[in-house]
Amino acid sequence: MLDNFSRYQKRLTLECLFPTSSQNKCACGCGKELPKRRIKWYSNDCRRQALNIFYIVKGDTSVIRQNLYRLDRGYCRNCGVYSNDWHADHVIPVFKGGGACGLENFQTLCVDCHKYKTIQLDRIPDSDYILTTSLDILPSPNNTIRTFNKSIGKDIIGNTVGISKCATV
Ligand SMILES: [Zn+2]
Ligand SMILES: [Zn+2]
Repeated sequence: MLDNFSRYQKRLTLECLFPTSSQNKCACGCGKELPKRRIKWYSNDCRRQALNIFYIVKGDTSVIRQNLYRLDRGYCRNCGVYSNDWHADHVIPVFKGGGACGLENFQTLCVDCHKYKTIQLDRIPDSDYILTTSLDILPSPNNTIRTFNKSIGKDIIGNTVGISKCATV
C-alpha cells in the first residue's frame, strides 16, 4: 500500500496505517485502553491526530502545508528567512525514497533555497546532498508552539514505526 517513491499514496487506507487493535487499545498508538462504547479511538483527539498523519502520509498538500506552517511558521529552515511564498520540501527527495512520509521528512524552504537544492540534486542525483538544518536553530515564536511541535514530532516518529509495518507495493 505504501510506495516510498511516490508523492501520493492513492490506495492507502486509514485502517492500513492505523489498524483497529485486537487488544482493545486505541488505534492511534497512544497505548490507552479503549473506554466502553469506543471501538477504535480512545478520544476524538486521538482520531483527529491519526487522521492528520494519515493525510500527510497520503500526500495531501494542504494538510502538509498547514502542519508545516504550524512547525516552521514560514521561516526557511536553511537560511532562516521568512517568506510568504515558502515551499514544502521533502528533506529526503521522493525520487530517493522520501515519499509516503510523515511530517519528519518535510521542511520549509524559501523559493531560492528550494531552487538551489533542486539544482544540486539535478547535478549530482547520486549524492547524499540533503539541504536541511536542525530544528533547534529555528526562530521560535514562543515556547508553547515549540513544545507542541516536539510532541507532534514524537507522535510522528512513533507512528513511522507503524507505517513501516503497513504493506508496501
Ligand atoms: Zn490514542
Ligand atoms: Zn532559504
